[in-house]
Amino acid sequence: MADSKRAPVIVGNWKMHKTIQESVDFIKQLGLSLTKDDPRVCLAVPYTAIYPSVEAARPFGIVIGAQNMNDAAPGAFTGEIAGVMLKEAGAQFVILGHSERRELFNETDQIVNQKVHRAFKDQLDVILCVGETLEEREAGKTEEKIRGQIEASLDKVTQEQFLHLMIAYEPIWAIGTNQVATPDEAEKVHVFVRELITARWGEEVAGRTQILYGGSVKPENASDLMSQANIDGLLVGGASLSPASFRKIIEYQNFNSGVSS
Ligand code: PEP
Repeated sequence: MADSKRAPVIVGNWKMHKTIQESVDFIKQLGLSLTKDDPRVCLAVPYTAIYPSVEAARPFGIVIGAQNMNDAAPGAFTGEIAGVMLKEAGAQFVILGHSERRELFNETDQIVNQKVHRAFKDQLDVILCVGETLEEREAGKTEEKIRGQIEASLDKVTQEQFLHLMIAYEPIWAIGTNQVATPDEAEKVHVFVRELITARWGEEVAGRTQILYGGSVKPENASDLMSQANIDGLLVGGASLSPASFRKIIEYQNFNSGVSS
C-alpha cells in the first residue's frame, strides 16, 4: 500500500478537449458522485474552462489547474498565458514539462525550469512530468533520462518549494498508446525518482513528495498501479474524459483486477 504520509491523488489531464459547457457538466456529474472516502481529485482543464470549472468544482472540493503557462511575467507575448492569469482564474496548480509540450513544442529542461520558478513565484503548485522514450528504455537509458530531466527541470528548487510540487512519471511510450507500464516497471522508476530526491533534497522531502504515474491508466489497471508503495497517484489523460471511466479510476480500491499489467 502507498505510504500513509502521502495522500493519494488522482489527476485528470483533459489536454485540448472540452468546451466550457462540457467541463461544467462533467464536473457537476463527477462531483455529485464523490464521497469523503475518495482520494483528492484534480483536473487540468483548458484555459477557457478554468474559471467556470473552479466555480462548478467548489462545492465538491475538486481542485482545478492548468496544463501549461509561459515562463515570463505579463508582457508582449502574443497568444501566451501568464501564471498570474491562471492564479486569478482560480487555478491551483499547473502541469509543466508534459511530453507533448517537450516533443511538439520543443520545450527543453531549461525552459521547464524557468516555468517551474515562475509558477512558484505566482503561487501555483506544479506537477512536473518526466519520462523516457521507447528507444531510451530499450537502450537501458531510462534512469539517465529521468535523472537529467529532474536535475535540470528542478534546478535551484528549494526544500520549501517541494511542498508545492508533485512529480509525474510518464513513460512516453505509454502515453495514449494503451501500453501501460507494468506496476513493477513503474514502481522501479518511482523508487529511483525518490532516491534522486533524497540525494539532492533530503529524506524528509523525498518521504513526503507525491510521485504520480501516468500513461494509459484505465479503470482496469489503476488499482494494481496504486498498490505499489511508491506510486502515490495517477495522472490520467484519455480515461479522464468520461465521467464514468474517471469515476472508476477514482474508486480504484473497488476495482482490483488482480492482473499486473
Ligand atoms: C497524459 O497525457 O498525461 C496521459 C497520461 O495520457 P493517457 O492517459 O491518455 O495515456
